[in-house]
Order: sequence, then structure tokens, then C-alpha cells
Amino acid sequence: MGHPDKEQFLDRFLGSALGTFVGDALGEPVEGWPHRAIYGRFGLLDTMVRGEGRYTDDTQMMIGILETLIEKGRFDPAICAGKFQENFDPTRGYGRRIFGVVERIRQGVPWNQVGTDSFGNGGAMRIAPIGCFYYRDLQALKENAIMSARITHNHPEGLAGAVAQATAVGLALQYGLSNEPVEPEKFLDSITARVTDIDKGFAESLNAIKSMSASFTSCHRGSMIEIIEAIAGRYRLSLRAIESVPAAIGAFLLTTCFKDAVVLAVNLGGDTDTIGAMAGAIAGAYYGYGQIPEAWVIRLENGAKGRDYVISCVKEILL
Ligand SMILES: [Mg+2]
Repeated sequence: MGHPDKEQFLDRFLGSALGTFVGDALGEPVEGWPHRAIYGRFGLLDTMVRGEGRYTDDTQMMIGILETLIEKGRFDPAICAGKFQENFDPTRGYGRRIFGVVERIRQGVPWNQVGTDSFGNGGAMRIAPIGCFYYRDLQALKENAIMSARITHNHPEGLAGAVAQATAVGLALQYGLSNEPVEPEKFLDSITARVTDIDKGFAESLNAIKSMSASFTSCHRGSMIEIIEAIAGRYRLSLRAIESVPAAIGAFLLTTCFKDAVVLAVNLGGDTDTIGAMAGAIAGAYYGYGQIPEAWVIRLENGAKGRDYVISCVKEILL
């Protein structure tokens, strides 16, 4: 790609991809649990309780996007649809509608006719590589984020969620590379400006994070528990993008290190693997791979298309 700070860029692209992976694996065992049930069972959940660090659909589809960027040197939705279908493993926790999408791709239906009207967070959960690849041009980032989401999700909320998440990753990478502290209000305004034309309600949904970031930083730094209660009290943390994407962005903006962002995200309850994956993608782009706790990285599954494969994909994209 030709980049002035190649090592720094590699560290953050790896951070975003592996951040998706660790957040996904950490959140998966408690998917669907309410936040208080997680707390009651684990306190603050911060280890891979099932041990094997297995990823789900979020990471599997992200791998499809990485492979597309390698093959074409840019994003291409037709190639990506094929990768989604090739990689599809039905035991990885896919949403019901994706089974039909994958079947239509297999039958040769064009990529822009296989998706459904889903308002879920599936377009957002896998989008880290697009946020990193296009971070210098937020308009190109938006266009490619929309195309990548449309393969599966056509509802405006699903598309807005993908654009919001990709923009958050891109901005986090910009801030991270320039070693600048993130100003939550500016960060959220940039995202809002890029989603309002897609879905007004989505832009409004982000506002609650803005108020929380103002109250938690100006009065006192809230404890993890207070922030969890605030986010879980405001958002229904379902797979609906308009609920879960702002929560993931909040988990990044209301914490001060990679580990806290992801721990906060998976302890919110609800769609925990995806909220963890999205918070990990943003936090990883900002803090870098070097800041992901090693205890998590070494637990990630590492067979075919596991941890080392994801690392090699990112390296290949940057060659
Ligand atoms: Mg999942």
C-alpha cells in the first residue's frame, strides 16, 4: 500500500483484526446473557472461560474481507461474497438469514441480490479490515463499507451500523498513528456526519454515548460497573445495529486501554461476541496489536485460518 509509517500501520491493522478475534472469542460463551447474569457468575468477565478461544461468524466473515483485499488489492463485493460462501462453517453461530444468503451465493446469484432487509449488526461486526484499509479516505471508506454490508444487509440501520463501525475504526487508526488522544465529542460528530443520510435514527442513537462521555469524563472517571450500567440501561443490546454498534463505540470511548474497552464490551451482556468484536476492532486500531493482552492472544484458536493465518493475511495486504 505504500505507507510512511509502515510498522506503526501494521501494528494497528493487526490490532484491529486480532481485536475483532479476541473480542469475539471472549464474548461468545456469554452471548445472550443479561449483564447482571454475567457479573453474578464471573464478576467482571476478563478471561476466555471456555479456554479454546474459538471464533464465531464475526471473525470468519472478517477473514473473508481480508482475503478479498489480498486477492484484489482493494475491496470487491463479488469476490467477497464468494469468500463468505467458501469460508462458511454453520457451527460458527451465524444468524438464521445468513444460511439463505450463503445458499444464494452458492447458486450464483449476484452479490447485490443475495442479501436480506436485516437491520442486524452483521455488516458492522466484520468490517475492521475496511476501516483500516481505507482510513485515509473516509469517503472511499464509506462507499466500501456500504458495499460490503449490502452483500448480507440492506436495511438502512444495518448499513448505517456498518458505516459507523468502519468510520470508528478508521478514525481510531488516524488518532492512533498520530499519537493523539481521542476527543469523544469530535469522534462521535465525525461518525454522525457520515451516517445521517443513511439513517437519521442511527445518528440519534449515537447521542447517548456523547452525553455519557461528557458526564463520565468531566465529573469523574466512572468505574467499569457504572459505565456498564449506563450503557446497558440505555441500549437494548440485541443484534440490532442501532443498539449494539453505539454500545461498542462507547466501550472504546469510555475506557483508556485496549483491555478495558473489550472487557467493558463483553460485560454489557446481550450480543456479547459481536459487541466485543466491534469494540476490539476500534480499540485495536487505536492502541495497536502490542497492547492486546498476551494472555488472550495465546489462547486464540490457531488451526487452519486461525490466529497465525489472520496475522499473515494482514501482513500480505500491507506488502
Ligand atoms: Mg458471532
